[in-house]
Amino acid sequence: MLKTYEFKLQPTKCQKQRLIDMLDAARYVYNWGLEDRVNMYRYAKYSTSFYDQSKYLKELRKEKPWLEDVHVHVLQGSLKRLDLAFKAFFRRLKNGEKPGFPRFKGQYFFNSFSFKEYGNGFGLQGKRLSLSKIGRIRINLHREIIGEIKTCIVKRKADGWYAFLGVEVPEPKPSQLDNPVGLDLGLNSFAVLSDGEKIKNPRLLKKALDEVKHEQRLLDNKERASKRRAKQREKLARKHLKVERHRRDFHFKLANMLVENFNPIVVEDLDIMGLIRKAVEDKKNGKKVCAKSENILDAGWGLFLQRLGSKAANAGSAIKAVEPRGTSQECCRCGKIVRKGLDERVYDCPFCGLVIHRDINAAINILKRWLMVAGRIEEAERLGKEMGRAAPSGMVPGRELVQANREAAPL
Ligand SMILES: [Zn+2]
Repeated sequence: MLKTYEFKLQPTKCQKQRLIDMLDAARYVYNWGLEDRVNMYRYAKYSTSFYDQSKYLKELRKEKPWLEDVHVHVLQGSLKRLDLAFKAFFRRLKNGEKPGFPRFKGQYFFNSFSFKEYGNGFGLQGKRLSLSKIGRIRINLHREIIGEIKTCIVKRKADGWYAFLGVEVPEPKPSQLDNPVGLDLGLNSFAVLSDGEKIKNPRLLKKALDEVKHEQRLLDNKERASKRRAKQREKLARKHLKVERHRRDFHFKLANMLVENFNPIVVEDLDIMGLIRKAVEDKKNGKKVCAKSENILDAGWGLFLQRLGSKAANAGSAIKAVEPRGTSQECCRCGKIVRKGLDERVYDCPFCGLVIHRDINAAINILKRWLMVAGRIEEAERLGKEMGRAAPSGMVPGRELVQANREAAPL
């Protein structure tokens, strides 16, 4: 499995110029390859392949001697990238979509080049990244690389140059699925676990979200097309950035905690994009947005699931999704349906006498549904009975806290 490490480069002025030259050469070959493909098809009805074009590189370098100043793998990398662009184009066309034809790349639309073999064109030497025809560039190795380095992509971003090192790491061990947990999107908290734990949005994130709402209101009150409005818009953008940073930090911490302690992690199979679209539409039309959709918008639930998914894939854990309908209406002990309004925080069952926090009840149901699907009927039945009897303790010994965002759940 290939894992990517990102490190910032600190090139000297002279090295920066060489990096830009390299980028120009890579872009030149990309554009040349595109033109070549178009011409070959137009005049000869021949579909040129990556293989054909790589073979021709030798001739091209004779015609354009300055291309000799660039490692051949970099040039091949451009052709490979072009090849992928064409493959994606034809794949989407076949699926009945309307993709854009691959385009010629202008100076500001081509920001990376690549090497494909460690020790051939690039390598690490102490605190420096050695690149063919450029030299040894200072690299900020802020974390230890574990595994064998295979590839290197050099990328220009708004704030400088970066190296993305592709590292071969051993495949994670096959999933054991012996410590499942149900995870429900809470109404009053970010999420709730089936073991009775509630996970709140961190204080800093909440504060930043309030600030965004405040600045948005100020913006709405400013006169259209005024200087003050433009200033306010900038201020709002900075607050949004702050929210993103806190949210990202929180998501990664929580995802780590879940992946380290549970496998699989069971969630509701929600149509997140659909819910978001509907909530945005409702907001526009001034309609009331349901609390769950509101929470999806605010908490970045969809983004969290994406991040959790990639964390889990790296760790060899599984994410399972179950049918979401009625998870909050069903009693997790006796299975009877009790209609509950969205504002009722406690689930009390008149049939078996269970009293439990509504979100915890839902989280347990989510876990139970997966156990049933997986054929683990006994476990599912035991889960409901046990949860109903003992007040959830909220903590599982030996598990690390995600800062202070977790609290034992009161009933
Ligand atoms: Zn019941």
